[in-house]
Amino acid sequence: MYDEPHKLEDYLATELQCSCGHKHYVPIRAVEIAPGAIRTLPDYTRKFGYAHPYIVCDEITHRIAGEKCATLLHEAGVESRTLILKHTGFDEATLGEIVLNLPEDCDVMIGVGTGSITDMIRFSSYKLKLPCFTVATGAPMDGFAASIGIMNVNNLKKTMQAHTTELIIGDTDILKTAPYRMTVAGFGDLIGKITCQNDWELGRIINGEHYCKNIADLVKDCLAHVLEIAPRIKDRDPDALGDVMNGLVLSGASISLYGNSRPASGAEHHMSHYWETVMEQRGMQHAMHGEQVAVGTVLVLMLIEELLQKEIDFDRARDFVKRFDRKRWEEEIRRTYGTAADEVIEIENSAGKNTPENCLRRIDSMQQHWQEICEQLKTMPSAEYLMNLLKEIGCPYLPSAIGIDAATLKDTFLYCKEVRARYTVFQTVYDLGLLDELSDGVQLRLNRIEEKA
Ligand SMILES: [Zn+2]
Ligand SMILES: [Zn+2]
Repeated sequence: MYDEPHKLEDYLATELQCSCGHKHYVPIRAVEIAPGAIRTLPDYTRKFGYAHPYIVCDEITHRIAGEKCATLLHEAGVESRTLILKHTGFDEATLGEIVLNLPEDCDVMIGVGTGSITDMIRFSSYKLKLPCFTVATGAPMDGFAASIGIMNVNNLKKTMQAHTTELIIGDTDILKTAPYRMTVAGFGDLIGKITCQNDWELGRIINGEHYCKNIADLVKDCLAHVLEIAPRIKDRDPDALGDVMNGLVLSGASISLYGNSRPASGAEHHMSHYWETVMEQRGMQHAMHGEQVAVGTVLVLMLIEELLQKEIDFDRARDFVKRFDRKRWEEEIRRTYGTAADEVIEIENSAGKNTPENCLRRIDSMQQHWQEICEQLKTMPSAEYLMNLLKEIGCPYLPSAIGIDAATLKDTFLYCKEVRARYTVFQTVYDLGLLDELSDGVQLRLNRIEEKA
């Protein structure tokens, strides 16, 4: 039992009983993030008892790191086999190519790349009942420590059950050669933890949700540090890149630690999920996940600022939620979500987020805890501060910069909360009957910013 914060290292392959009542554990055995970290690969391979690694990369990641992995292993007396993928759709064909080329004696698979390849290796090795390692060539999101893998099945992005990698190597000498946009996206995914941690706090205060202070603090401390070093990212300072990579691993690991994505995903992620869903249906190219999350974080902070300026009328809120028109809501979900509507309606059917009964219960709780809620909301940095920071490092911070027009944004504010059952600040503002009005306030502010630019 402990009540003191632990570092991520303490949790690796070690189960800790926490004062929150849960046991926390990450199945990852080692994380090496440093200049020259790739040189630790042969040692870990032997230490973990493997002798026949199968390296999977594409042409680019082979050049960047795959070749080096094979050479280092060879020099250490470990003979590996390498597959340079020709089918890079990260779909059934890619999976087939990996399996077709799998050496008989393979005892560990090594994915060399960023999201797509490492996801594919976590999934395929899981299916093949083989352990896997990850060698990162860039860090655009926090999926490295995940236990799921995303791949295309029947031309649709699908989240597949996978297992976690045993080893994560983030060699900062390699990471600094990654396209800058990728690094910025990784940073964007990380700063989303600002609003996501706020959502968890609101869930705890308003909804009586389970909360783990130790995990929350782990993520918050890491976030505070990353915000501090952020200006050095643009110089590709290897220490700063290492800190971002560390943060991304930690953020992903917090999902394993907690057992669901509560510590790493909130309202800003719901915005990103919504944008991906609708833009794909419109045949539009969407921005990178981390860029969307960065913009979402700014928007959520703006909404919070609007909320803090408002005098709250709880009785008016009660009247508002009692008027919930389920039929009209469903029509709106069909209009905004298109082919994804059935799934979204199914979520509401089982979660009942918008039923008057649940809304009224939360309004009572808000009225009782309003002071505490405001204090929590006031811990948020200002949208202005974050926009300036994002601008400085060259990350998009306005919806227009990532292809989101005013009409889509309005729908996003009103309906993105329906994409998951998870409680976020969007539900808080909805329950208060203010989502429509305050999102108009955010739009006016955006208009003023655009005019000035
Ligand atoms: Zn993310
Ligand atoms: Zn805990």
